[in-house]
Amino acid sequence: MDVREFTGSVEVIDAHIHVQRSAAHALELYNYFLMRGPVMSGPHMPVALGTVEQALAMRERTGVRHLNIMMFTWSGTYYRDGLFTLPDDPTDRVQADGELRARIVRRVRDNNDWAVETARQHAALSCFIGIDPVLMDETTLLGEVEDKIRRGAKGVKSMFPDTGILANDRRLWPLYDYLQSRDIPLQMVCAEWAPNLNRPLHCAEALAAFPKLRMIFSHIGHGREFGTGADAEFVELARRYANVCGDVSLRLPEVADGHVSPREMVAHLRKIGTDRILYASNFCLNELLHADPNGGAAGDFQMTQTVKGLEVLATLPLTEEERADIAGRNYRRWVGLDAPAGPQ
Ligand SMILES: [Zn+2]
Repeated sequence: MDVREFTGSVEVIDAHIHVQRSAAHALELYNYFLMRGPVMSGPHMPVALGTVEQALAMRERTGVRHLNIMMFTWSGTYYRDGLFTLPDDPTDRVQADGELRARIVRRVRDNNDWAVETARQHAALSCFIGIDPVLMDETTLLGEVEDKIRRGAKGVKSMFPDTGILANDRRLWPLYDYLQSRDIPLQMVCAEWAPNLNRPLHCAEALAAFPKLRMIFSHIGHGREFGTGADAEFVELARRYANVCGDVSLRLPEVADGHVSPREMVAHLRKIGTDRILYASNFCLNELLHADPNGGAAGDFQMTQTVKGLEVLATLPLTEEERADIAGRNYRRWVGLDAPAGPQ
């Protein structure tokens, strides 16, 4: 089917994409953060760079109305690697550690600056900003959120698997308190592919303490086995807390690939509540993680997974009301689509 036919009839908003600042930044994501490339796994070069130009070209071709950028910096990886370079002398080491932390926090802030400015320049883009609750002290952390929200950011993105903490870490309590009191959404990444990673279960403690916190779970939990583990933990939180919702990034292609039947997916989405679910692609990470040898023509880039997800959204046996909710209406309700001030 032609996805443009679908997006022409229903407003589709992508709640979760990633945009890299340049081709060099895209290679850093691919080779360094995702550990892919010539000597690792996956194709020599990334199948998509996910620059602003490519994100807008994806939007143009699919007909998706709006793209929300989840800006984040792999600051935990930078810090762990930077520790290897610190001097032996204890006094020098303390000083160098402070400099290393400051340098990485500056990188986080610079990336966030770039994201809010990019969103100001393109009416079709908005952003959530990245944080590092380990390297940022409380004042810096809350100051960064305050500054970027004031400048148009729509929410905050967490990347706890990279920072090495769990959602029940008490260093996060001031952040949760701040976000809850100001109604600012927090995108929560959970993972089940390795033990000791942040799971919806760990968020339960945070929600017990901050029950009105607006938490948006990426990949609606992402259990290793569909409907169980992290998937089931997420359903539980969505049922218990009125401000918990999730995006379907990475999950719709599972239907296209035959791992989950359309009927099973619809039953699961209804268990969560179709008013709590946001369409999302995770472009271009979704493409990098599932490189398709026939995915991009020469000089082009891959958007196979993104198109596949939209085709599934268009054809799942949902009611048309449910489909329109997931496609775009829920995003309007949960995050809003008002364009930030600035040139369009
Ligand atoms: Zn993502």
